[in-house]
Amino acid sequence: MKIKLNKEWWNTIKKFGGTMPYYCLPKNLQDLIDLVKQAEAESKRIKAVGSGHSFSDVAIPECYLVDLKKMDALLPLDRNSINEKYNNVNLVHVEGGMSVQKFNKRMEHQSLCVKNMGGLDDQTLAGAISTGTHGTGIDLPSFPGMVRSILIVSHGGKCLRIEPKDGLTNPDKHSETGVELIQDDQFFNSSLVSLGCFGIIYSFILEMEDMYYLEETKKLYQWSEVKPRLADRSLFHEADGTPIRGVMVQVNPYKNEDKDHTCIVVRHRILETMPSRYIGDATRNWISSVLSYFPLSYLYLKWVARNKPFKLPKMLDASLKSLRDKRYVNKGYRVLYQGAEYIKKRAYDSEFAFDLSNGKNNFIKALEAMFKKAEENIPEGLYQTAPMGLRFVDQSPAYLSPEYGRQVAYIDTPFVKGTPRLDEQLFAYQEIMLSEDGIPHWGKVNTILDGRPEIIKRYYPKLAEWQEVFNQLNPDRLFSNKFSDRLKLGDIV
Ligand SMILES: Cc1cc2nc3c(=O)[nH]c(=O)nc-3n(C[C@H](O)[C@H](O)[C@H](O)COP(=O)(O)OP(=O)(O)OC[C@H]3O[C@@H](n4cnc5c(N)ncnc54)[C@H](O)[C@@H]3O)c2cc1C
Repeated sequence: MKIKLNKEWWNTIKKFGGTMPYYCLPKNLQDLIDLVKQAEAESKRIKAVGSGHSFSDVAIPECYLVDLKKMDALLPLDRNSINEKYNNVNLVHVEGGMSVQKFNKRMEHQSLCVKNMGGLDDQTLAGAISTGTHGTGIDLPSFPGMVRSILIVSHGGKCLRIEPKDGLTNPDKHSETGVELIQDDQFFNSSLVSLGCFGIIYSFILEMEDMYYLEETKKLYQWSEVKPRLADRSLFHEADGTPIRGVMVQVNPYKNEDKDHTCIVVRHRILETMPSRYIGDATRNWISSVLSYFPLSYLYLKWVARNKPFKLPKMLDASLKSLRDKRYVNKGYRVLYQGAEYIKKRAYDSEFAFDLSNGKNNFIKALEAMFKKAEENIPEGLYQTAPMGLRFVDQSPAYLSPEYGRQVAYIDTPFVKGTPRLDEQLFAYQEIMLSEDGIPHWGKVNTILDGRPEIIKRYYPKLAEWQEVFNQLNPDRLFSNKFSDRLKLGDIV
């Protein structure tokens, strides 16, 4: 194992990071055990990082940084030790350091596919799962929903295989040397979204779908047409009531010539098989794809934001119109990948989840309050540099997931880096979303949580149970960092 001393490490948006005293590149499970024991013996903190794609400082280690990029292999699955009821389930055993991108390609070779994923694929599996990364689909889970078993190295270098009660592994046949099997709902549901605070995750067993094909359509609407269909949830169904697998909305916060807001509605429908003649459908709208990959479009947007910001409302309309696409058909993960990578890596956002149960529509109120705020900011020369997004996610068993026990709508509010007074604008949006009972995404900008653990207590009904597990696996705060200290995770009463 390589350990580099005093190496610089920054998250993707270069906002958090710095010189890491010990930058460790373990190669196997034994390296992880040795590292945890070493850090513990020296009373120094240790934390794993993924690809550094979180915009908050959730991943920033203080002393030992464990980068699992060399631990990204598929692992053998011991079918003999797995309960019979899982005989016909697609299960895959994979190291946590594998990127979503590599994972998807490896799965394609086995004709398997993720149920759902975020819009990009650079995250690692462990990073995406640990913060509850999600895509869109009101009946589809976020990443943690695919997890059936977790192997984690916790304090004392203990290796724990964590599963729900009556989980995957038959305890009578469990034969992993040096690994303790814990089958307990509280442990499992807590460990799904653990923000790196429970130890270093070595591997997951994930449940996969057979490869499927999706059709994506992107249609333009006015907000006044989309809003009632969101409010009564009819946007999630075909006219005959058939559920649509995934729906996503992007909307310009500024009014257009019709005194309305331009929206694009993205729909993902499952196809039984890949049509034999799909060549024309197998590429996305090429103009928008090319532009969004091109560095100049980012630089131009930044220049406009600084020099001619009054042009931005019309530019956002034009960019939404350019996304319009008749039809794009491909394998599931390729359609779920939304592209525009160059710009997205130079932008950041806050993203809040809103409860959809019992007909609640606070997300609509929050969104419209942000439209109003965006208009109010105009006289000050402050502008939004990207459309706002709405995505929808099914409930999750993960105690620290905003969608624990209920379906949610997520609103994201992206800004291109370099937008004047970006953090101030983002903070005002966070305040609005919180006032409508929105819950911040752990991996996005969530500065509203700073010094306010009562917010976490209010919105996470299973926080006490999560903290019990936190205190068992992280009793000396070995796996904590400034983020978890500031939020008082483990100590919120
Ligand atoms: C361009 C871009 C697009 C994005 N799109 C989406 C999206 O569509 N949907 C969405 O929900 N989010 C999205 N995000 C947010 C991102 O998916 C999450 O923040 C995710 O956690 C990042 O994964 P990562 O591998 O970079 O992990 P990091 O940010 O490096 O780490 C995240 C957390 O995981 C922990 N961790 C990482 N590896 C391990 C391990 N082996 N053991 C224990 N803990 C570990 C870290 O300690 C940290 O707490 C996006 C971010 C970017 C930059």
